This record gives sequence, C-alpha cells and structure tokens, in this order.
Amino acid sequence: MNKNAMEINGQRLWDSLEASGQIGKLRGTGLRRLPLSDANKEMRDTFCAWAEAAGCTVTVDQVGNIFARRPGRDDALPAIATGSHLDTQMCGGKYDGVLGVMSGLEVIRTLNDLGVETKRPIELVVWSNEEGARFTPPMQGSLAFAGDLSLETVLASQDADGLRFADELRRIGYDGTRELGESEFEAYLELHIEQGPVLDRIGIDTGIVVAGFKSHGLKIQVTGNTAHVGPTPMDERQNALVGAAHLITAVDAIGWKHHPQGGKSTTPHISCFPNLPGIIPESAQLTVDFRHPEPEIADQMLAEVKAAMAEAAEKANVKMEIIDSWSFGDNPFSDDCIKALADTADAMGINYMEIRSQAGHDAYAIGKIAPMGMIFTPCTAGVSHNVEESIELDRTLPGVNLLLNTMVDLANR
Ligand SMILES: [Zn+2]
Repeated sequence: MNKNAMEINGQRLWDSLEASGQIGKLRGTGLRRLPLSDANKEMRDTFCAWAEAAGCTVTVDQVGNIFARRPGRDDALPAIATGSHLDTQMCGGKYDGVLGVMSGLEVIRTLNDLGVETKRPIELVVWSNEEGARFTPPMQGSLAFAGDLSLETVLASQDADGLRFADELRRIGYDGTRELGESEFEAYLELHIEQGPVLDRIGIDTGIVVAGFKSHGLKIQVTGNTAHVGPTPMDERQNALVGAAHLITAVDAIGWKHHPQGGKSTTPHISCFPNLPGIIPESAQLTVDFRHPEPEIADQMLAEVKAAMAEAAEKANVKMEIIDSWSFGDNPFSDDCIKALADTADAMGINYMEIRSQAGHDAYAIGKIAPMGMIFTPCTAGVSHNVEESIELDRTLPGVNLLLNTMVDLANR
C-alpha cells in the first residue's frame, strides 16, 4: 500500500467482530439477532458504548436508527456518512451488515489514534431492521430515513406474533426522539461483504460497486376452499396449496430461463391455512423474488410471473392475486462516489474490480437522497444468510482501508 495512506487497526476490527459474534450466537459460528430482540438490544447497547468511548455523540431517531457523530472542524457542513446494520437473518452469519458497522467504527477509532481532524463531520449509522426477518419490509430504517416509508407505517408493522414495532422499540429503549431524515449527508459510503462468489472466485479482494440488479418482490394470495380430503372428488377441489405449488415451480423455471444472463428467481416463503391433516387448504400466501442485471429483463420476468399466476390458478381451480409488491435496484450509485473510491484505490495501489450488487442494502435507500457508493469485500465461497458465513481478515483490510481513506478525502473537500 502507498505509504501516504492511513491504515486501520486490523486486530481491533477483528476483536470487535468477534465480540459481536458472541451476542445472539447461533449454532457455533452464526448469529440470530432479529431486530428489536433482546440480542439486538444488547448489540445496540454495546455499539453505543463503543461509539461513546471513541468520542462520538450518539443519537437515536424515531425508528431506532443510531447515529454516532465525530465532529468536523466546520461542524455545520453536511457529514460524510457510512453505516450498515447489526440485525441479522434468522440463521445469519457474523459479517453481513456487522462488518460495515464495525469498519465505520474502526475508521473513527483510527482517526482518533492518528489525531486526524476532518473538515466535515463523520457520521456512522446503524440502520434499524435491514433484513426484514421479523418486521417487513426489509431496509425499514433506511427507507424511513430517506422518506420512502412513513413513520406510522414502520411503527405499526407487526411480527408473526402480532407484536408491534413501536412497542418492541420502546421495550428495548431505542424509541429515539431525533426526527427522521434530520441530517443531510454530503455522501454515504457503505462497506459490505459481497454475499456472492465473484471476488472470492476471481481472487480480487476489493469490489467497487458500479450498479445493482433490478429486483422485484411480490406477495401473492392464493384463495381456494376448504373441503374434506377424503370424499371430495379430485375435479371439485380448490386446493390453494396446489395452486401455490404450480406457481413455485413456474417461478423457478423463469429463473432458469434467464440464468445464462444472470437472472434468478426464488419463492423463499409460503404460509398455508388451515395447514392441518384432513382438510384441503383454503388459503396460501407466497413471497416471490426475482432479479436481473438488465432492468428491462427484470420487468419482463414480472410479466412472465403474472402469466404463470394465471396458468397456475386455472390448473388448480383457485384465485391468485398480488397483494403487495416492491422493487429496488434502479441504479442508485453515484458516479462521483464511484470515482472517489476508484481514484483513492488507484492512489493507494489497491487492486480492485468493478462489481454489481445482487442483494439489497440500506445504501440503496440512502442513494435516493445523497450521493452513495459501496465497497464489497470477499466472503468465503459467497456463502451468506447462513451460519457458515466467513471472511479472511487479510482479504478484508484493503476494502476497509479504502473506506477510511476515501471518507477522509471526501470529508476534507
Ligand atoms: Zn446486509
């Protein structure tokens, strides 16, 4: 690395990740830290203590997003921000989201160690509920901050047990008073593990994200009718689960059709009612997700899924309708941020590649209100949303050092 570039303390970063890995530990190497759970509270408390020990002012907004601020010389200027999430999937790994937060903390700690002042303030944000593993939609905190979800919608959302976001947020003590979107960011950079195999397979340690995948999500209601599983003739059944099954395989086939160009499709969730032996199900709900690097093809896949719904409904003699839908990935990345990252990487002698993001991230929401860029670091074999998720410190450090040096460059502009 170029001798003028600053370097973070790798061991301290690793220790922070390992300490986080003890909170909500699952199956030895994984984490289950659902948003607004006791484990999430413990991690939030730990983070706030670390940020305060690093001299930051910590504030919490109305949906529980946490902001740790390191003042700038001209503190009235908009901050250079970074951040990610500390909530995890149901069977999550130790690095998804956590690496981005701990890297941001390490940026601040390193600037303290080196006695570096910046012209602009630096803000490190922990976004509430990125994964959507308990309350939906995913990226709730960053979407609300960016004005894409209303405060009321977030606070009223419920988990599978009917517990309300607002009540759970108050229970863990993170119902903050800071107004949503109160601060303006000059730029927002997020570091994240790639969650795919590209960097690991190619053997390059740093990815500068230049575009996303267009992604569509649908919640589909299948409605049939209950009946006895014995006497009801086959041709008189309206089995909602059979309709759902036809659709699941059709959605999978659509993914395979577009696989050569990088398309993919998934039905990750199904619920069924009454879901009991002896009775034909009257209702099924599916969540369907499909993605493609070309936005027009992703839209074409949406049309194909709708056609498959009509076919599956007819085959199973049931009704199907889309009851909720969302999409993201309309290129939210800023050319200025991409250039700042690439210029800094070149100056530091960091070998990087341009890469696409295939997952959703908080950065997408922030990209709508501020210039935004992302750095990817490798995870072993691309395994993520799995307790086996793992990283190598040596292959992670170039990306974290790129975050540090780019943030300082931007904060002194
Ligand atoms: Zn993540």
